[in-house]
Amino acid sequence: MSATAMGGQQLHEYHAIAAQEAAQAFNCNPETGLTLGEVNKRQEKFGKNELKGKPGKPAWLRFLLQFNQALLYILLVAGLIKALLSQWTNAGVIWGVTVINAIIGFVQESKAEGAIAALAEAVTTEATVIRDGQKSRIPSQELVPGDIVLLTSGDKVPADLRLFNSRNLQVDESALTGESVPVEKYTTTLSSDTPLAERVNMAYAGSFVTFGQGSGVVVSTANATEMGRISQSLERQTNLSTPLTRKFDKFSHQLLYIILGLAAMTFALGLGQGQNWTAMFEAAVALAVSAIPEGLPAVVTVTMAIGVDRMARRHAIIRKLPAVETLGGATVICSDKTGTLTENQMTVQGIFAGGQNFSVSGTGYNPDGEILFNQESVDLASDNFPTLKACLMAGLLCTDSYLEQRNGNWIVVGDPTEGALITVANKAGWNQSEMAKLIPRIDGIPFESQFQYMATLHDSHESLEQTGNGGKIIYVKGSVESILSRCQQMLNANAEPEPINRELIEQEVEALATQGMRVLAFAKKVVPDNQNSVDHEDIATGLIFLGLQGMIDPPRPEVIAAVRACKTAGIQVKMITGDHVTTAKAIAQRIGLEKDGKVRAFEGKQLSEMDDNELTLAAEHGVVFARVAPDQKFRLVESLQSQGEIVAMTGDGVNDAPALKQADIGIAMGGAGTDVAREASDMLLTDDNFASIEAAVEEGRTVYQNLRKAIAFILPVNGGESMTILISALLARDLPILSLQVLWLNMVNSVTMTVPLAFEPKSDRVMKRKPRNPREPLLSGTLFQRIAAVSIFNWILIFGMFEWVRQDTGNIDLARTMAIQALVAGRVVYLLSISQLANVVFRKLRGQAARINDGKAMALGLLCTVFLQIIFSQWGVMNTLFRTAPLNLQQWLICLLLALPMIPLALFVSRIDPAE
Ligand code: ADP
Ligand code: MG
Repeated sequence: MSATAMGGQQLHEYHAIAAQEAAQAFNCNPETGLTLGEVNKRQEKFGKNELKGKPGKPAWLRFLLQFNQALLYILLVAGLIKALLSQWTNAGVIWGVTVINAIIGFVQESKAEGAIAALAEAVTTEATVIRDGQKSRIPSQELVPGDIVLLTSGDKVPADLRLFNSRNLQVDESALTGESVPVEKYTTTLSSDTPLAERVNMAYAGSFVTFGQGSGVVVSTANATEMGRISQSLERQTNLSTPLTRKFDKFSHQLLYIILGLAAMTFALGLGQGQNWTAMFEAAVALAVSAIPEGLPAVVTVTMAIGVDRMARRHAIIRKLPAVETLGGATVICSDKTGTLTENQMTVQGIFAGGQNFSVSGTGYNPDGEILFNQESVDLASDNFPTLKACLMAGLLCTDSYLEQRNGNWIVVGDPTEGALITVANKAGWNQSEMAKLIPRIDGIPFESQFQYMATLHDSHESLEQTGNGGKIIYVKGSVESILSRCQQMLNANAEPEPINRELIEQEVEALATQGMRVLAFAKKVVPDNQNSVDHEDIATGLIFLGLQGMIDPPRPEVIAAVRACKTAGIQVKMITGDHVTTAKAIAQRIGLEKDGKVRAFEGKQLSEMDDNELTLAAEHGVVFARVAPDQKFRLVESLQSQGEIVAMTGDGVNDAPALKQADIGIAMGGAGTDVAREASDMLLTDDNFASIEAAVEEGRTVYQNLRKAIAFILPVNGGESMTILISALLARDLPILSLQVLWLNMVNSVTMTVPLAFEPKSDRVMKRKPRNPREPLLSGTLFQRIAAVSIFNWILIFGMFEWVRQDTGNIDLARTMAIQALVAGRVVYLLSISQLANVVFRKLRGQAARINDGKAMALGLLCTVFLQIIFSQWGVMNTLFRTAPLNLQQWLICLLLALPMIPLALFVSRIDPAE
């Protein structure tokens, strides 16, 4: 083992030596890779192939940053002034409350960040390696220097590689070099002073393969990679800000200025009226503190974090936090067909070859089943049906997948479409690996959606194919359009070439596709013996058509219900697929996609000929878009958005990234998708299932709903308090609540009562309403009316109670305490009217289905509230700290009684502005 290479990943000049030498430096054979024993040793030595960024801000700093809010400045200063006036208790309480507030904020923020960071880490990438002569997929973290890695389009490059093979390999290195145009890769040795961006024989970790294939030897992993060196200097950071939180920030800033203005005005007016300045200062501070909804930011963060968590449980992983709120507003979902709306469990059921139709029995990928001709089993060992055999052979050999038996079940490793083709050949009695030995593959063009076909070049096998003097044979399979256009001849039942009969073939395709089957066409071409590679030009013409195979891919049963749920929720569902239009339509019908009773379908070809207006019409009215190319997906998203739609779009291919980025919510597949698509997405489905999108929308709506509830709940108290203080100060009367008491209400009481709102379960009606208008502000007109109405009630309650008790008893502390207790009692009633707790309890009492857990957080919050309020007035210490007075039973009852008018009011406001 070379000391330089293995002695700590020091040498960074692998571009300047030949690929062979690089492999030698790591003691590795490019053909067979490392041995597993060697891999283990190296894993111990080099550790995991993960980037470790610089740790984020230290905890103490993040804690201090909690004080970096205008409101808290005001409080700190207010405390300071109180201290200067030697009102030490006052100062202590103000400071104490700010510290508690910062602690709560800190804990909540850390939790939310932790949850989101954990989700990000749950998304791992895989790499294809050769070890011990075997190809396998492993998590990228397990790579070691010296591993042989195979790259194919859509992959994220998992480590720094010296390439020794490139087949039109193109790599997007923008993450590393900032250059957004993909770079072509070659294997030539370069001079040692070549700058990073020009080292075309290297593939660097963190870049993406956008085209072609290649392979290389790992020369550095983890932090020793070029990316690792950059990321060491970057801080790891989780961003908790979303459009909504930014709107909140803006809102609270504006509020702050208004309040400061009002407070200054109160102060000046009061002084002008000849009141003493300490009283006016108290009023100004109380006003400032009362008007700002301190509990709100905490609730927003918690609600979002809970939403993210709930979505993850339902198989939707949020990659970008803003998606949580956008999801709730989605009006159109554009979904892939294969694998998302359907099971991606393909079974060949019909074959057309040599002018004859065959059916196939059996399900799944196990080889039990037969090929039937006129209801009779076909014996492939005989010389009959040579064309059928050729068609099956093409399906068996022209593939990158294989079948495996795990725990008695047959599964596909690779593409299910190919799995189905291998299965049917197995049913005929052929074994894939034996055939591959008899008719070895020399080269191939892998399947890419863009081309819709795949081709492989083989050494011919005399007994099966009369290729003349041992020529070579190319097998091609793909969509009917892509294959037929390249064929001039077809084989008849005796495997003799005849001019192709396109009409007949198209009829057969229609017949299979109307049953919802995906149809693949097969062809071959004989080439001279000296040909050793196959390229797109080689199969541009002159293919001989072998036949068709039709496979079913049943719709996922849960999708039917999910589509129905979307429709009731006013969300359109559209299918965008690379598949044949007839197949797509048949599946769309089965899962109930029709719009206005019709399944309008468009083909990519038609879309590309449309101008913007026509496209907009098609995008709005069509539900099936078949044979769609990735750039057309992008245009579809754009034109839907131009109509004001909020578009969620799925994608899995390399070329889907632009459409995913353009969509309001880009959704990638955790299972089947490429790394490129995942990186471009806002959300990831761990089960690739459409039903999970619907679930995520439901949770997104709930998040939004709960935020609205929190606002509807918190703001009226601020409104009531500030009206009270403002009016009392202007009338030069004693303040019904002191600034300290306001702090208690806004920070202690509000948080205990509001945080449970973030845990509110979804309402039954959440998917029965139309999507919200995205242009409508969070604080809508009706929400504002609701807040104003409850604010006025709160003002009457505080002001009335205070004035009444004071006149009655002359005890100002008692008057204030009772005013506060009445306010909180009213608040409890109001909260019950907003939350689902009452709903849950009623349902339970009526013996209906209800999860008692759903009410838990709320019940707990209410218990805490009651407990804290009792302490607040009955405990001597609190009486000194907050200047409260103990209440007797009669006084308690009065407070509760006066809160009762909140019941009709709550019913009334929920008419104006439904809480759910
Ligand atoms: P979908 O949106 O249904 O996933 P794809 O883009 O994957 O569509 O496939 C488009 C067409 O390409 C299919 O209808 C089929 O005819 C063909 N095709 C799909 N998979 C393969 C494959 N592995 N090899 C050859 N052709 C394929
Ligand atoms: Mg596909």
